[in-house]
Amino acid sequence: MQKNTFGPIPGSTILGAISGKKTIIMAANIRIATVAEGIFKAAKDTDSAVFMELARSECDLNGGYTGFTPKTFSEKMNEAAKATEFDIWALHADHISIKTGNPSEIEGTKQLIDAQIAAGYTSFAIDASHLFNFEGKNVREELETNIIATTDLALYIKNRMKGKEFGLEVEVGEIGRKDGQGLILTKPEEAVEFIKALQENGVFPQVLAIANGSTHGHVYDESGNVVEQLSIDIPQTKAVAKALRDNHLDVGIAQHGITGTPRDLINQHFPKGDIIKGNVGTFWQDVVFNILKVYEPALYKEIHEWTLGKYRPLNPGKKDKQVFDGNCKMAIKEFFKQIYSVDEETNKAIRSMAYAESLVFFKAFSAYGSASLVRKAKKK
Ligand SMILES: [Zn+2]
Repeated sequence: MQKNTFGPIPGSTILGAISGKKTIIMAANIRIATVAEGIFKAAKDTDSAVFMELARSECDLNGGYTGFTPKTFSEKMNEAAKATEFDIWALHADHISIKTGNPSEIEGTKQLIDAQIAAGYTSFAIDASHLFNFEGKNVREELETNIIATTDLALYIKNRMKGKEFGLEVEVGEIGRKDGQGLILTKPEEAVEFIKALQENGVFPQVLAIANGSTHGHVYDESGNVVEQLSIDIPQTKAVAKALRDNHLDVGIAQHGITGTPRDLINQHFPKGDIIKGNVGTFWQDVVFNILKVYEPALYKEIHEWTLGKYRPLNPGKKDKQVFDGNCKMAIKEFFKQIYSVDEETNKAIRSMAYAESLVFFKAFSAYGSASLVRKAKKK
């Protein structure tokens, strides 16, 4: 038997194995790698499959805002998996975003994808949801530019993966986009039309991200305080999932922007199985910053001053609290060396906190035991 190196497995293997089960797989955006070991250890102890991911804005060929390139991110995640001896995880490219769809952007995106594949990524999320033709006469016309860009990139990935299996997530409806009435939500017929069109083009995603009322990052009240996020439209999400099923499209929903959603609400009210992948990003950054605040007060103060100094002028009228909260992610690359050279005592606290919080997420997502389902499916 081959010795397990604890490298990532195809995202499609994980999502395929839990299809039809009332489970959500956590996808953690690891902006600061120190949390990874804690998350993997919790995954191992609870037998939960997990995705480790970063979006294009967070990690690209220039280091995004986390300081990671696909290669260095992959190395860190592989090290953490090996250290904890955890085997059921995917290395996922979150939000490979296309904003304009013009040839130079598509070209640059293909370079990023090449780097991700070279780094051993096993799952990809193409996000061309910004491309929407408001003048379209029907749903298909409205989605046409998204369909074209998504198809182009998905087929490119397939070609470059050279027959290797991989996870594929696509996106319809820009998450967090608002009009005069509030957040714009993805309609069931849009989801169905989008997936049908992709399948006609030979593209078969396992998971679809929709706009269903969530926002990336924190939600604030008028005074700039962070508040709970209760805006995810559960009936709409169920309606989208049902429409996909009714049309025999075997595609689950990716819930983005979970940070701030109370976990008891997730546990009791999220349609698990309709939602199959749950992205948790900002939450893990909070874990690190909350520890730094206590364990590394001097560093925290420096980060705080740098962030406000830079972003206060760009956010007139906003309270300092919100300016810091919304922009401290930009300090991660700036303070990369300091963040990764803190005392072992600090790192231990970060890992432990990440461990405990992961337990709660895996429980709320009903993910306990999902890793064994994947192992079983792999053997078939
Ligand atoms: Zn997202």
